[in-house]
Amino acid sequence: MKSQTDIFKALPSVDKALQSTELKDLVSSYGHKAVKLVIRENLVSLRRQISLDNHSIIETVTHKDFFESFCQTVAERVRNSFQSSLVQVINLTGTVVHTNLGRARLPDSAISAMGKVAAHATNLEYDLRTGKRGDRDSHLEGLLCEITGAEAATVVNNNAAAVLLVLNTLACEKEVIISRGELVEIGGAFRIPDVMESAGCILKEIGTTNRTHLRDYESAINADASLLMKVHTSNYEIRGFTNSIPESELSQLAHKKGLHFVSDLGSGTLIDLTKYGLPYEPTVTETLSLGADVVTFSGDKLLGGPQAGLIVGKKELIGAIKRNPLKRALRVDKTTIAALAEVIKIYRDPDRLNCRLPLLSDLTRSLAEIDSLAKKILPILNEKLRNIADVFIEPCKSQIGSGALPLDLLESRAIVIRPIARKGETDSTLQMLAKEFRSLPAPVIGRIHDGRLLFDLRCLKKESDLSSQLEHLAKFD
Ligand SMILES: *Cc1c(COP(=O)(O)O)cnc(C)c1O
Repeated sequence: MKSQTDIFKALPSVDKALQSTELKDLVSSYGHKAVKLVIRENLVSLRRQISLDNHSIIETVTHKDFFESFCQTVAERVRNSFQSSLVQVINLTGTVVHTNLGRARLPDSAISAMGKVAAHATNLEYDLRTGKRGDRDSHLEGLLCEITGAEAATVVNNNAAAVLLVLNTLACEKEVIISRGELVEIGGAFRIPDVMESAGCILKEIGTTNRTHLRDYESAINADASLLMKVHTSNYEIRGFTNSIPESELSQLAHKKGLHFVSDLGSGTLIDLTKYGLPYEPTVTETLSLGADVVTFSGDKLLGGPQAGLIVGKKELIGAIKRNPLKRALRVDKTTIAALAEVIKIYRDPDRLNCRLPLLSDLTRSLAEIDSLAKKILPILNEKLRNIADVFIEPCKSQIGSGALPLDLLESRAIVIRPIARKGETDSTLQMLAKEFRSLPAPVIGRIHDGRLLFDLRCLKKESDLSSQLEHLAKFD
């Protein structure tokens, strides 16, 4: 029986491990410090286990191959610690603009523009003509005005920030009048009443959940009121006995009473989506032409660009918004500006938008194309899963997502994986399978519904993206 001291002696010194042939390459790839740290951590943990008299550890440590296995463990841990936690995934959830999966995929032109400004010094806030300080909004304002018809524009970190900044600038310590039917909660923590409070505004809710009339707005207006606000009910619909006031009447009323009218469009599309066979969504241009003084919308929802909040509207109001010190805290960085500019330029040619903007190409994908992808993938999955699940193709509906158009509207095709029923095990099999797919090198994310795992293939770019992943899938016996 060896004494603890003897067992401790079986542990290598940090230097011995660092200089070993096993870890030399690792040191040259990741550096001395990172490798040393992991060696130390491992040794500390082993020493603790030895002093606790952990027999299996003691056996391992005193084994003749211990040094080699120690080095292997260190190498694996070092490599893992350098792996990015943010990885590419394959979105087969059927939700095209999926907030948890990073929303819009960017077009190549935007990606390369981001790379260029990231790698170099840029004239982000530098006027090349005068040699003086410039304005970072100048790279986007002209484009945004051109495409929306607005007088002025500015950009912040996301649409939640846009709403916050607009409210804080135009209605701090004042009342904001809004219909009870529009007190929206978007996923996460964005709730209109809370944003109002953070912005220092007093929420004045009027009307009822299903019906709000012009007279409700009229009678709510007093000396403390500053804004009439309309919020797009992005992720729900109020149907049946309903009434809401159109933008044109709200803006007329606001202007007659000397108030501003602000519209938060949420997803905010720049074009008439019905042209592409998609459901109607109010456009930014329309909302402005109906008299909105300021319109806010997201950069990464229906616009199909990077995460950003866009604010367009009257010059004087946008000017005040830009001067608000909060703007400085909410501003976007150069890579976002570069990407957004490229995305907006794509809108100059609406005829080619659906081939050039990944978001629109996903949304307008033909059923025939999705179906043919499904037919190619089906036999592969069938082969892999035949002992454990039935696999077949079924019609399904994709969602646009991110609060844009809440209902199931886009005809699509799903590969359905239904575990072969073994009493009481269906659910655990389903969870196990979903986990296996999530553990692939590029995790494949589906949707569990009704005891089945569904892969909606709308957002699969090409067959090989998925089939190459499925090669790594275990065979289930
Ligand atoms: C999505 C949404 C927001 C928040 O936009 P983010 O870009 O996610 O910050 C605000 N208002 C409405 C109506 C929305 O749909």
